[in-house]
Amino acid sequence: MVTTPRAKPDGHDITCRQAVALMTDYLDGALSEDDRALVEAHLGECEACTEHLRQIRVTVTVTGRVRDEDLNPRAREDLMNLYRRWQADREP
Ligand SMILES: [Zn+2]
Repeated sequence: MVTTPRAKPDGHDITCRQAVALMTDYLDGALSEDDRALVEAHLGECEACTEHLRQIRVTVTVTGRVRDEDLNPRAREDLMNLYRRWQADREP
């Protein structure tokens, strides 16, 4: 893994680049507990990465890699709108 776990995870232990690199595994639940703690600590302090994670969630949802029942109804509705727009964009 790209991170070196420390005794107490802190948002500054990893850079945004590292956080982003870990995000898909984070969403897949594929990270070790240490790495997940690092990502979550970083997300707690970094608005940019929180937004980036949100956008990854949208992407993996429209591509079917995350089940939509994992999302709350409000988010699901937003995603369905995004999904329709995404589909419309793909029409010739
Ligand atoms: Zn960040």
